[in-house]
Amino acid sequence: MTESDSPRYVITPPPQAALPVQGSDRLFPVNRVFCIGRNYAAHAVEMGHDPDREPPFFFLKSADCVTADGTFPYPPGSQDVQHEVELVVALGLGGRDIPVEAALSHVWGYGIGLDMTRRDLQAEAKKLGRPWEIGKNFAHSAPCGPLSPASEIGHPAAGAITLDVNGQRRQSGDLNQMIWKIPEVIATLSRWFQLQPGDIIMTGTPAGVGAVSPGDLIQARIAGFAALDIRVT
Ligand code: MN
Repeated sequence: MTESDSPRYVITPPPQAALPVQGSDRLFPVNRVFCIGRNYAAHAVEMGHDPDREPPFFFLKSADCVTADGTFPYPPGSQDVQHEVELVVALGLGGRDIPVEAALSHVWGYGIGLDMTRRDLQAEAKKLGRPWEIGKNFAHSAPCGPLSPASEIGHPAAGAITLDVNGQRRQSGDLNQMIWKIPEVIATLSRWFQLQPGDIIMTGTPAGVGAVSPGDLIQARIAGFAALDIRVT
C-alpha cells in the first residue's frame, strides 16, 4: 500500500499484527497463525487420544490473536481457560509443496508462544462436531515472546520446554518429543496451503495443560530463549 492508496479504503485498515525481534527494535509482521494439534505424545494421551503417529492436523488463529505485551486478559464466556506452551516457528519465505529437506530454509526465526484455550468451549465444539474457533481463536489468545532469528540461534530440535503458574511447574517436556518435527510440519502444511512470509506456526504443547485465573503469573520457558512471563488480568 502506498500513501496514495490509503484514501481508497472506506474504513481505516486494521493495524498489522507483529512480534518484536529479540535484541532489536525491529518487528516481524504476522500473517496467519497455524497451530498443530496433539504433537507431543503425552499431551495426546492426556486429551484422550492415541499417541501414535497419525497424520498431523491444524487449526488457525487470526493474526490479531498474537500479542506481546506480557498480559493475558481473561476472556469472556469460559470457566476453563487453559495454558499451552509452544515453540513458535516464524516463516520468512513462503511456498507450496516444500520438501522436508528444504523446509528449514523457509524459517526466519523462533520464539515462545502460548496457545490459550477456552477448553470448555472447545470440548463442546468437539462434541457437536463444530469448528474450534470459539475455543481457540479469541482476542489475546496467542501471547508470545520476541522472535529470535535462525541466523543467530540456528534451528532448535531439542531442549526443555516448561510452563509454571505462580511458581508451580505445570508443563514439562522437550522439543525432541514432538511427534511431527518442524521440517515435517512445514512440508505437510505446504501441501494444503500456499505458505506465505509472515505465517507463524505454533508447534504443539507438552503434557500438563491446565486452567488459569485472573491474577496468575504464567512463566513459559524454552531452553535458549528469553524468559516469557505473562500476567493473567
Ligand atoms: Mn496448542
